Amino acid sequence: MQESATAAPFDIVVVGAGMVGAALALGLGRQGWRVALVERAAPAPVEPGSQPDLRVSAINTHSEKLLRSLGAWQGIEQCRLTPFDRLCVWDATELPFPPRAPALSRSQDTPLNEVRFDARALGQGQFGHIVENGVTQWALWSAIRTEPAVTCFCPDGLATISDSETDVEVTLDSDSRLRARLVIGADGATSKVRSLAGIGVYREQYEQQALVATVSHAGPPQTVTWQAFHPSGPRAYLPLPAIDGQSWASLVWYDSPERIAELKLLSEADFIQAIQTGFPRRLPRLTAAPARASFPLAKMQANNYYKGRVALIGDAAHTINPLAGLGVNLGFQDVDCLLGLLEPLAEQPNADPTHVLMRYQNQRRPAAQQMIWLMDLFYYSFSNSRLPVQLARNLGLLAAQRLPMAKQLVARYAMGVSTVPRSLSPMELISHLPRPPSPSAVLTRLRPRKPRATSHH
Ligand SMILES: Cc1cc2nc3c(=O)[nH]c(=O)nc-3n(C[C@H](O)[C@H](O)[C@H](O)COP(=O)(O)OP(=O)(O)OC[C@H]3O[C@@H](n4cnc5c(N)ncnc54)[C@H](O)[C@@H]3O)c2cc1C
Repeated sequence: MQESATAAPFDIVVVGAGMVGAALALGLGRQGWRVALVERAAPAPVEPGSQPDLRVSAINTHSEKLLRSLGAWQGIEQCRLTPFDRLCVWDATELPFPPRAPALSRSQDTPLNEVRFDARALGQGQFGHIVENGVTQWALWSAIRTEPAVTCFCPDGLATISDSETDVEVTLDSDSRLRARLVIGADGATSKVRSLAGIGVYREQYEQQALVATVSHAGPPQTVTWQAFHPSGPRAYLPLPAIDGQSWASLVWYDSPERIAELKLLSEADFIQAIQTGFPRRLPRLTAAPARASFPLAKMQANNYYKGRVALIGDAAHTINPLAGLGVNLGFQDVDCLLGLLEPLAEQPNADPTHVLMRYQNQRRPAAQQMIWLMDLFYYSFSNSRLPVQLARNLGLLAAQRLPMAKQLVARYAMGVSTVPRSLSPMELISHLPRPPSPSAVLTRLRPRKPRATSHH
């Protein structure tokens, strides 16, 4: 690479300041690294009394701990967040033969096959918090503004990367040039850092899409989140806080692209009607549904999490099915891991931060892979109306509700305070399912429709 006298010197360039990139840049700055943070668009400030952001995330206690240690959680608390202390899931598919098991049918308010998790039973105040993505991002940006080691290049975008033995040079759309020892791509699922570095991915699109809606409803704000599994996809309720005395919630409706397209075209009144009919009866009466948007769903895993002086984190490295609300939490775990590996080097002026990248990849890539498998286990077994699969999962749910130890393990995992024990790893679970002659036949039978798989650079 040609030495440039004009390239501004940094230790680390972070491209993308969504929730994950902003958290990493802040943490690196706090450790004493000179950080350049490149972002296309700054988040809008969150005005008190404003309608909730359409995009929300369930932030687990592990992520909360990280954000607290970075000094960003306080900003979230001052703005708005909703703790949830109960979590309910059940299979809403009706059994196809008469007489229908009435307790399993959708007409019941509390189906027999419902698994209920209660944080108090685990000695915890809550499982986590539902936080608007805009609030998390805004709190991180507010903290970054007080961190002199982080320089923001915004609005600006990544144009080129040229990597060498000793350093890496980045040019931006504004023609600014930055020189550093490491570039970290936190620029989301369609990462330009990843493609410029020549890192390939495995990507598979799910047949289902997700329609997310912000709704206001009658009655007090809730602290329970629930998800009913239908063969066409889950329908989920995530509580949001009361704003000026009005209760809000975020709903997620997973379904076929055709059904999602129909729902998007409905007037607000017809959309509310469709939700009240399609969602379980425990959904409070909706008073408004001012915002909705749909998202295609794909699982994606980068073939490598680093190459030369470039590394990937968050959705730039992996995406998972959002049905368990764990995607950004996985990204925050990447941040935690990288910060832990880089911290000992921060005080050494000649230390090369790329030395830890292999360890980063070895820790984080298998963890993301395990999560992808776990989400597939849910997706393929619940999006399936074949009777044997339906009976097996209902028996599983009935048993799960009655096995406090198993419930505790799952709940601790959802909170981010435990990892999946080896004996419960998704591949182990899949391997214990009854086997017909060939594994490919199992997958073909479990999959509702054939997904499109692509592997590209
Ligand atoms: C329907 C749905 C529901 C979800 N619910 C949950 C949930 O409940 N809990 C959970 O944990 N996760 C959830 N997720 C997943 C979660 O939203 C993502 O994992 C998370 O937003 C990824 O954050 P990120 O910072 O890695 O990437 P992004 O949020 O995509 O941020 C990337 C940033 O990089 C910037 N950028 C992109 N390209 C460039 C460039 N060339 N130059 C400069 N800047 C650039 C963008 O402007 C953006 O700010 C959900 C996802 C979906 C689709």
